[in-house]
Amino acid sequence: MDHPTPRSSFRSPRFAQPPTFMRLPHREDLTGVDVAIVGVPYDGGTSYRVGSRHGPREIRSQSSLIRTYSYFQKVAPFDRLTVVDAGDLDVPPVGSIEQAYAAIEAGIARILAAGATPMAVGGDHSISLPILRAVTRAHGPVGLVQFDSHIDTWPEYFGGKYFHGSPFYWAVEEGLVDPARFVQVGIRGPGYGDDDFDFHRRRGMTVVLIDQVKAEGVDRTIEAVRRVLDGPTYVSFDIDAVDPAFAPGTGTPEVGGLTSHEAQRLVRGLGGLPIVGCDLVEVSPQYDGPGQITALLAANLLFEMLCVIARGRG
Ligand code: MN
Ligand code: MN
Repeated sequence: MDHPTPRSSFRSPRFAQPPTFMRLPHREDLTGVDVAIVGVPYDGGTSYRVGSRHGPREIRSQSSLIRTYSYFQKVAPFDRLTVVDAGDLDVPPVGSIEQAYAAIEAGIARILAAGATPMAVGGDHSISLPILRAVTRAHGPVGLVQFDSHIDTWPEYFGGKYFHGSPFYWAVEEGLVDPARFVQVGIRGPGYGDDDFDFHRRRGMTVVLIDQVKAEGVDRTIEAVRRVLDGPTYVSFDIDAVDPAFAPGTGTPEVGGLTSHEAQRLVRGLGGLPIVGCDLVEVSPQYDGPGQITALLAANLLFEMLCVIARGRG
């Protein structure tokens, strides 16, 4: 098994060739692969402005600029890990969300069956639930850190169970995530009332509101997050955790969020944890700003996640 690396920019210009994540090889045979980057272009769970189905393609395009070594995590992930771009899951864009969930769960299960860790690129946040169903079938209940401006623990929407505001209610109810090892970071409102957090209190989940991040700083926030996480861990990054001044290209923007740099440092702070899967969701390119800054940030956060995984597999 060869050890794939991003195509060298000294032999092929960064803007050339069909875009794959960081110019890695596109490979559907995942034998021997450690991490599979997989697009999940589904936005049928979106409650406000749609468009994150176009996220994976734009994130791949913006990722072509990223170089391979992190000065801050002090790791070259492609030296330690076999990483490929596994393409996209062919999720049905029409029909019921249950049909989409079945396709996503089956696709992620195939990646896990090959022994690879899935790094999913959304798509809206509803995709996290079927991914977690597949991940926990392989690993058992996981700890979870969710970066988000929203809690996403609503039990239903227009009479249905599933949309991008409910994945973590069902993930806890289905026993996929251990609520004692579940922490949400960057949450802010406005919401509906303090009882928005009744579910969290009842289940013993941890919430780090954005004001706590800003008041205590990134390092203390990382300490608080790592106190909660233990054992196999899943990371879910909703790009709307970041302030729309830095990440406008998303479906449900909330002002007063993380800076790009805070987001990078928070992800770096997970280094060494045993990551069994992760996703980055809610990038909606048609609302993006000049320079595709949201997709560019998303691509860079995925690179930081790769470094985090690499540090956990020393
Ligand atoms: Mn979300
Ligand atoms: Mn959100």
